[in-house]
Amino acid sequence: MNYLIRNAVGVVSPASLNATDIRIRAGKIADIGCQLDIRPDETVIDGRGCVVWPGLVSTHHHLAQSLLKGVPAGINEPLGEWLKAVPWRFWPHFTPTMMYHAARLGLYEMLLSGVTTCADHHYLYHRDTSPELEEAVWQAAEEIGIRFALCRGFAIEAGSHKGMQGLHVEPESIELVIDRLEATRKRHHDPASDAMARLVVAPTSLVHSSGPEALRILSDYARGNGLRRHSHLLEVGFDEQQAQAKYGMPAIDYAASNGWLGNDIWFAHLVHSDRHTINQLAASGTGIGHCPTSNCRLGSGIAPLRAMADAGVPISLGVDGSASSESASMLQELNMCWLIHRAIGGPQATRAEEVLGWGSAGGASILGLENVGTLEVGKAADMVLFDIDTPRHSAVHTPLMAPLMCGEPTTVKHSFVNGRQVVADGNVVGVDDERLIHEVKESIALLLKHQ
Ligand SMILES: [Zn+2]
Repeated sequence: MNYLIRNAVGVVSPASLNATDIRIRAGKIADIGCQLDIRPDETVIDGRGCVVWPGLVSTHHHLAQSLLKGVPAGINEPLGEWLKAVPWRFWPHFTPTMMYHAARLGLYEMLLSGVTTCADHHYLYHRDTSPELEEAVWQAAEEIGIRFALCRGFAIEAGSHKGMQGLHVEPESIELVIDRLEATRKRHHDPASDAMARLVVAPTSLVHSSGPEALRILSDYARGNGLRRHSHLLEVGFDEQQAQAKYGMPAIDYAASNGWLGNDIWFAHLVHSDRHTINQLAASGTGIGHCPTSNCRLGSGIAPLRAMADAGVPISLGVDGSASSESASMLQELNMCWLIHRAIGGPQATRAEEVLGWGSAGGASILGLENVGTLEVGKAADMVLFDIDTPRHSAVHTPLMAPLMCGEPTTVKHSFVNGRQVVADGNVVGVDDERLIHEVKESIALLLKHQ
C-alpha cells in the first residue's frame, strides 16, 4: 500500500522543518514536505490535528509479564523479592497459548503508546521448554506487524537460578542454548538495516545467569554470527557486590573481561553506574536501555543518564516488563525520563527533543537498525500520528513536543511500520479489544491455578 499523510500539525524530521505531509511508498518514506500532490494509487491519511513522530523504539521489555501486572505479593517489594514473588513464581507455568496472549497484549500496548520497534527480553527457557513458547512471541509480533527483536535470555548455571528452585525445572546447558539459538537464527533472524525480525543473544543477568566461560562462548557465537547482545546489568547494587565477591572485580570489568562490552551490546538499567562504569561504557560504545518507570516502581534508583550522555554512552529507552511497569507505555517512559532527571539534576539535565531522540533514533541505532528511527526520505516508513486535537493538548505552544510533555493519556491515531498501517483511527489493526481482554483474563485464570 502507498499512503499520503496530509495536513498534519507538524512532522518531527531532521530533514524538513515545517513539513505537514509525508508520502509512503513500498514501505519507505518517499517524500516529506507541504501540500504534496495526491497520486492515484495512494490512500490519503488525514493528518489534521496530529503531530507525526518517528515510531518509538523500546529496547527492553518482557512481554510475558504483560499478564502479571500488580500481582499483590510483589507490589511493595524491591527487585530481589519482587522477582521471587512475581515473574519467577509464574514463568515455568506459561504455555504457548498464554505466551501468545501475553505478547499480543504487550505489543498492543506498545503500538498504542507510539512504539513501532520492540526489543523483547524473552527468558522463559529451561531444559524442557517447548519451542512453541518462543514461536508464540514471534507469531504475535508478526501478526501485529511490529518491528521486533527477540533478545533470547538464558540461565544455565545449575542450582544458582533462584527462580528455578522448587519449581521442578532444570536449567539449559550451554550446548542446548547454542543449538536453540542457532535454530531460531536460521528461522527468524534478518541482518538487514531495516529488518523486521532480529535475534539478540541475551543472558538474563550478565552477572548471575552463567559463569565467565559461558559468557565467552556466547560472545564468540554472537560475534561470529553478527548478532547483537543484551542483558540486565547494575539494576541494583547486588550485581556489584556479587561481581566483587565471586570474581574480585567491579561488574563492568567482569563484563569487559569476558568480551561483553562493545558497540553491539546494550544493557538494561545500569542504575548503579559509577564514574568508572560510565567511562568503560563510553570507551567501548556499549549502550543503555533506560527504563525509568520500572526503576521507580521497584525503588531501584535513577540511572545517571546525563553523565552517560555527556560521556558519549549510546542511550535508548525501554518500558521494561509490565510486572514492574504497569503502565506499559513508551510515551510515559519519555515523559518520565524528561522529568525525573531534571528533578535530580536541574533544568539542564534533559531537553524534550533530546529525549524523543533517545526514544527513537537512539534505540534504532543501538539495535543496529540504521535505516529506522528518523523521518527522512529513503528510510523505513515507521511513524506514529499522535492526536493533539484534544482539550488537554490544545493550549500547548510547542505542538511537536506536546505528547511528550503532556504524557499519558494520549491517543495514537495512526501508526505505520515498514509502510504498513498497524493503528488506524485509534484501533490496533487486526485486534478485537473485547476478545483480547477475554483471552488475557482466561490465561491469567489458568496461571493462578498454579499458586
Ligand atoms: Zn528487565
